[in-house]
Amino acid sequence: MARLGSVSIVVPVYDERDSLRPLADELLPVVRALGREVEVIMVDDGSRDGSAEVLADLAHAEPEVTVVRLRRNFGKGAALMAGFRRARGDAVLTLDADLQDDPAEIPRLLEALEAGADLVSGWKADRQDPWSKRAASRVFNGVTTRMTGLPLHDLNCGFKAYRAEVVRSLAISGELYRYIPVMAAYEGFAVTEIPVRHRPRTHGRSKFGLERYVRGFLDLLTILFIGRFRHRPMHLFGGLGLLFTLAGILISAYLTVLWFAGEGIGDRPLLLLGVLLIVVGIQLFTIGLVSEMIQRNRLRTERDEAAGRVERVIE
Ligand code: UDP
Ligand code: MG
Repeated sequence: MARLGSVSIVVPVYDERDSLRPLADELLPVVRALGREVEVIMVDDGSRDGSAEVLADLAHAEPEVTVVRLRRNFGKGAALMAGFRRARGDAVLTLDADLQDDPAEIPRLLEALEAGADLVSGWKADRQDPWSKRAASRVFNGVTTRMTGLPLHDLNCGFKAYRAEVVRSLAISGELYRYIPVMAAYEGFAVTEIPVRHRPRTHGRSKFGLERYVRGFLDLLTILFIGRFRHRPMHLFGGLGLLFTLAGILISAYLTVLWFAGEGIGDRPLLLLGVLLIVVGIQLFTIGLVSEMIQRNRLRTERDEAAGRVERVIE
């Protein structure tokens, strides 16, 4: 497989003041030793703890480092998107800013990418987080694997490597970044996984509690829907709508025949059902049409939004 010449590293940062310098001290020697063209894009997701000052110093002192600051805290997904927008490398790697991901693993991720994968996802095989998080994460990964058919152990690992095409095809908003491997697989990209070393958090605190898993499951439904029907929402809504309307028309036709035969139908529950099916069916059909129109603008809009959140860039 062809060697990927240039590498972009994207790091989402939200209130990680004390981790940033040690991270740069570990990360920069590793990326310089790659012997490729590299850039490190630190995306400050509206930090309020003084991270911005540390990042500005880093951007001035280190030629490889670019800092992208978002106007407020938009969430990790938005931070990643803003970083992806600026990334110019043939390969794009992401890692968390909290020192939980070990930069020494970067060459291995790149190697796996060059071996032919389009996306290599880290797997925190020996996860250094509280047990509650590990247990919830196991359930989450199990259910997602079953529902999406993508056999990964650890979907939501911050440590990942992508070919540039994958990053460009992604349009994530909110918290959908958890399903990046699923979305990439739906787009036809080859997704693999390698175990990576994971370390306990030493500075600051985690930005996510257990509530993330509740939202995660709602997002899973979105992803399944998007994956199967994004390009053809009419097939879902229109199909259901036709089915409902047809059933409603049949029922109404039957009642109409009875009515002409002189039977009273005004107090029959079936009448209500027939009318309801027709109304709901037409509604579903209309939703299908509207979705078709919306889907044509969606991708572009989300990418433009990601760029619009940047407050300033320091190089
Ligand atoms: N993060 C971010 N925006 C947010 C929340 C988190 O950019 O709104 C960053 C955070 O600074 C870290 C990474 O996302 O670099 C993962 O966050 P965290 O370590 O809190 O998650 P966990 O390790 O608990 O899954
Ligand atoms: Mg962490």
